[in-house]
Amino acid sequence: MQKPKGTYDLLPKDSKLRNRLEEILKTVSLYYNFKEIRTPIFERSEVFHRAVGDSTDIVKKETYDFLDRGNRQMTLRPEGTATVVRAYVENKLFADPIQPQKLYYIAPMFRYERPQAGRYRQHHQFGCEVFGADSPSIDAEIISMAYNIYQLLGISDLTVKVNSLGDEESRTNYQKALVQYLTPLKDKLCIDCQERIKNNPLRVLDCKIDTFDNPPKMSEYRTAEAKKYFAEVLSYLNTLNIKYEVDEKLVRGLDYYTHTVFEIHATIEGFGAQTALGGGGRYNKMVKQFGGPDVSAIGFGLGIERMLLALQALNINLVGEDYINVFVATMANTKNVGIKLLNELRLNGFIAEISHQDKSLKNQLRQANKLNAETVLIVGEEELENNLVIIKYKGEQKTVQIDKVVEYLDKLELGDYNE
Ligand code: AMP
Repeated sequence: MQKPKGTYDLLPKDSKLRNRLEEILKTVSLYYNFKEIRTPIFERSEVFHRAVGDSTDIVKKETYDFLDRGNRQMTLRPEGTATVVRAYVENKLFADPIQPQKLYYIAPMFRYERPQAGRYRQHHQFGCEVFGADSPSIDAEIISMAYNIYQLLGISDLTVKVNSLGDEESRTNYQKALVQYLTPLKDKLCIDCQERIKNNPLRVLDCKIDTFDNPPKMSEYRTAEAKKYFAEVLSYLNTLNIKYEVDEKLVRGLDYYTHTVFEIHATIEGFGAQTALGGGGRYNKMVKQFGGPDVSAIGFGLGIERMLLALQALNINLVGEDYINVFVATMANTKNVGIKLLNELRLNGFIAEISHQDKSLKNQLRQANKLNAETVLIVGEEELENNLVIIKYKGEQKTVQIDKVVEYLDKLELGDYNE
């Protein structure tokens, strides 16, 4: 039996780092006043088809679709935004007294892509979405939050690309100009892009347009309002000290964006081909499209696996070695007392272990060593007669009264696993 292609098992040796990373992301979310939302890992297919766009690669080629036993067409979530919008509308979060709604998630995503280093069929994203704030300052907050997360983790070899797709009018005008420009060049485009001219012309920018002369520039088709909005976003980014590049060709893979879009790429040497660490943008039409009120929104999704790869490439370790606080070693006759003590230690917040096989003391000490035990309690027969146990700590050995063990260990200020 083997795991499905493009997936991986998170093994115990790696779970501490993963948990630590998720904890950092949750803490940063708290600082930025985001609250967690969890949505199902599958939805009715139309949630994604409608939002992400029928003509996008994700929906056309990459979704895991299935019929459930009631013959309903379902899809495993390929991205987070559409599910959060569905939940926001369905649960009427627009009527919550707290506005804007600032939501975050850490969740698995499923895409039937060709697996390679940094690209999986099940990957995980940390995502944030803000509903009901339509001001350039929140666009800058979202971009700077993503940027600051990487800085905080020590990942500073980055490029931040930003662009504006403008409002609907800007986008329509630009699309028209682009279609006009591309149509005579159709034969020089790949098969997919020939299709895209009809369905999704902006996506041709992602593909090949570098090689053409003078394609129309998005910036020249922005309305005055869209220009002003984008200029203000950039000005706030300057205020926040974000080093960014304006990339006129950045459109992002999904159909739903308006105004600001951005991507963060790793520029770490030897990082591999999949340099996109995360991206996002504004999607002002989607809430209405899902049957909600006319509420604007912006968000991002950051790849968790890519974050881990970047940390690895830079040799940054967020966690120390595994360890336990106390190992309780017993003799055959003292095991009962040992078990009771072990229970008390755990209830008092110590990471504690015992040997459940009846091994010699030497073997138990060896096990304690393997587990990186900070202290070892030896419940010896003779000591127990006087209600004492032995505590080994930093090479020293002391006897302590059995009912004072917790008090004694508390004073040693042993490690906190989560720190
Ligand atoms: P996207 O919304 O497609 O830009 O995805 C957001 C982020 O998720 C990307 O920037 C990547 O860091 C990560 N990501 C997307 N697809 C995959 C994948 N197949 N495997 C691993 N990470 C991915």
